[in-house]
Amino acid sequence: MRKLVVVLGVPIDNLTMSETIDRLDSFVQIGRETGKTHQVATVNADFAVKSLNDPELRLLLCEAEMATADGMPLVWGARLLGIDIPERVAGADIVPALAGRAAEKGYSIYFFGAADGIAQKAADRLKEQYPNLKIAGVASPPFGSILEMDRRYIDEIKRSKADIVLVALGNPKQEKWIGMYGREIGAPVAIGIGGTLDFMTGQTKRAPAWMQKTGLEWVYRLLQEPQRLWKRYVHDLFGFSSFFVRQWWMMRQQNGPALILPKTDLVLIDQTAYLTLSGRLDRNNYEEIVMSGMEALKETGQIEINLKETTFLDSSAIGGLVLIAKQAREQGGDVCLKEVPDRILQTLTLLKLDQFFDIVDENGKPIHVSPQTVFVEPSTHVIRMPRRLDVNTAENQQIKIMQALQSHDDILLDFTETRFLASAGLASLAHIQKEAQRLNKKLRLANCSTDVQRVIKMVRFDSLFEIVEHFKAPA
Ligand code: UDP
Repeated sequence: MRKLVVVLGVPIDNLTMSETIDRLDSFVQIGRETGKTHQVATVNADFAVKSLNDPELRLLLCEAEMATADGMPLVWGARLLGIDIPERVAGADIVPALAGRAAEKGYSIYFFGAADGIAQKAADRLKEQYPNLKIAGVASPPFGSILEMDRRYIDEIKRSKADIVLVALGNPKQEKWIGMYGREIGAPVAIGIGGTLDFMTGQTKRAPAWMQKTGLEWVYRLLQEPQRLWKRYVHDLFGFSSFFVRQWWMMRQQNGPALILPKTDLVLIDQTAYLTLSGRLDRNNYEEIVMSGMEALKETGQIEINLKETTFLDSSAIGGLVLIAKQAREQGGDVCLKEVPDRILQTLTLLKLDQFFDIVDENGKPIHVSPQTVFVEPSTHVIRMPRRLDVNTAENQQIKIMQALQSHDDILLDFTETRFLASAGLASLAHIQKEAQRLNKKLRLANCSTDVQRVIKMVRFDSLFEIVEHFKAPA
């Protein structure tokens, strides 16, 4: 069973290096049998801080099959929250160890990213070390937006039938790239490895082992590239520590004596599983929570978890809920959290997981509703956008909108229900807007949630589209 601990809103796997390699090995076997791509992330402080302001990255990390603690701050953070992560599991250590396992088992590896020539050099080095290693291919695309990446790279990786794709595009680009193309390339494992290939080829020097273990690697890197890195480190230091202190403090405040005995209770009615969690839920009953979720998932993907009687959730119990929700979504269902006590809601909101879960009140009404105030013209054609505009839904939605553009002059894309807008959705919106401009039609976006707005602003699409804050379609 996966053990997760949520630090800065990111669920981190509690694993040793050798467990990580075993798990990656099993991902390859599962992927070969089922065609599933397992997304793996190596999370450091910079990454975790970025995810606070990047909803797409946050969701990708919540839904990744594995997220290791690549930096000591993550390990320390988990420990301060009471969860003992045994060691740091850095991308730069995973890659050589995984190459050894791959050579042994006959798995092929594709090297994707880094500056020109670096990926090839890294592949050659590993091949020298492990002559049996199968190199599925090597490519270093020019630096630039993933939305504009040449499709030939994707086709080429697909054709290579690699078992493992190492993606070195820096974060969050590599995570978004895997989110966007992972399923299409069909490799069993895709790992975002940041600057690992630069380390392996000596392009950047790695700190001595004692510095890596004591969390001082950043000092070493800073001395090597002060110009490029000082701003990032200052930003990360403040971002990570200030946010972490808030999480730690909030959890400490709530961490009172247990008045209600921890209990899980499961009932199944009409294809929905009703799970009630009571009392103080923490690392001691993590397994019980996840097992009851898995029990429910054997029957159905729709789970309602009632938290009315829950007095405390620690960062591992929250990790357990993330795991159940992720599994439910894979089965085509979802988890909804009902009657969440205010203090727990505050923690989920702080960790920005209030957008990840569906949260409803005692009557089953969502607790986040956007006010709808502005009326639009009757002639405006309103198209409802899906809950998630991502690689799975973007294409169908695009076809629908393209058809509507043929017969309507003014189209409003209604994002009221959209919780998640991925890079694939953005690419599709850009394409649709181009077509609308060509046909001289009006295309607007409306009722975007804060997260969706943030994604739109990050890629500067707010200059491409007119955005209506709150609207109401005429009856
Ligand atoms: N990189 C890339 N394409 C890009 C941006 C970065 O191939 O558009 C590569 C870069 O050459 C380096 C790696 O991604 O090998 C990691 O970059 P960076 O040091 O910025 O990220 P971090 O290691 O901090 O995640």
